[in-house]
Amino acid sequence: MNRMPVPLSGLTGGTDRLAALADQCVMCGLCLPHCPTYRLERVEAESPRGRIALARALADGRLDPTPAALAHLDHCLGCLSCQKVCPSDVQYEEILVQTRAAFVPRATGLATWLHDPQRLTILARLGAATGAAHWAPWIARLLPRGSRWRRLATTVPGVPPIPRAAGPTRVAKASRVALFRGCVASVYDRDTLAAARRLLEASGHAVVELAGTRCCGALPRHAGDLARASAESATTREALCETGVQVVLSCASGCHGDLRDQVAAGTGLRVLDVHAFLADDPGFAALRFRPRAARAALHLPCTQVNVVGATAPIRDLLARVPQLEVLALPEQPRCCGAAGSYFIEHPVFADRLRKEKLEQVALLAPELLLTTNIGCRIHLGNGLQSRADSVPVLHPLALLAQQLENPSP
Ligand code: SF4
Ligand code: SF4
Repeated sequence: MNRMPVPLSGLTGGTDRLAALADQCVMCGLCLPHCPTYRLERVEAESPRGRIALARALADGRLDPTPAALAHLDHCLGCLSCQKVCPSDVQYEEILVQTRAAFVPRATGLATWLHDPQRLTILARLGAATGAAHWAPWIARLLPRGSRWRRLATTVPGVPPIPRAAGPTRVAKASRVALFRGCVASVYDRDTLAAARRLLEASGHAVVELAGTRCCGALPRHAGDLARASAESATTREALCETGVQVVLSCASGCHGDLRDQVAAGTGLRVLDVHAFLADDPGFAALRFRPRAARAALHLPCTQVNVVGATAPIRDLLARVPQLEVLALPEQPRCCGAAGSYFIEHPVFADRLRKEKLEQVALLAPELLLTTNIGCRIHLGNGLQSRADSVPVLHPLALLAQQLENPSP
């Protein structure tokens, strides 16, 4: 088909750059068994190799950016399991982001809310005000059945309570670290953030938290909205630099990559995974934890494995709790379908992936389900709730804070 190439407005380097990125793929197919959407559909267009071929064809104008073609790119979870195993070092994430930036129409309607951290945070705070298990069940009943708005109202839960600290914490002012709160996580993961603060203070660190909602830019960047992502990163970068800290800790694996590669780039700030930081920390090593005789299944989010790259420290931290039995889910990372706002936008794929994950969880019959990403926590929590399964889903740091013995003041 002859047609004018679509201008690559969001692309640094234009079509040549995208073509060069896509041409790194030698089409070997080694990534296919690791791709969740390919496992579900068994069609090439729902595989990494197929998506790279689509991106290449879009870039050189051989393919029109029709809704049908773009749907395959849209179905990608951005889990990066393909990039992790690729022997040719194909930069799949950059191909995906740049192709979405260039060819996927800018979001309208609900999608503008789903990709906008500030607006999502407004919804989260509205949810907090309702105090309901899900933020607005009464609104959900007014919305058309099957609509994305209804899906949003019935999937985004109420915010978790922050447990009261059981006793005094020991704070030394010598070591200052910033704890990154994030945007959506600052509301929905606030119990995790409180737990992280408690553990860090008990280990002897003074914790700096930025006021208000700060976003790393991951949500808009993965949706291809590079201008918004860049603006979010810049605001957060400026705020972090003003604190004068050297070390920024992330609790949510979904934020870690953008915090490290976009926000902190060129600043001298060191972004560290909070588990890796605590596992190496002498102050944390001196803490004591009460026993917890329980079986805990550990779900490792794709971002924890493929982006953060730190999984052993999580097990090391949990091993500090006497009598806790940590059970690994098989074949990790295996996406649970959460993937940022994916579980709201693509419920069919997301729910199929979650079903698979929950079946693995059920086989282990745990008393707790642990995960380090807020999206996974919400999505898996909703799935368990719909099965009337009362297994609580929490962040490993929340469990550690619950079991912490009071340090000496
Ligand atoms: S992305 Fe990498 S692993 Fe997948 S087909 Fe291309 S070269 Fe092979
Ligand atoms: S990022 Fe994940 S869902 Fe997307 S193509 Fe790669 S493996 Fe498949």
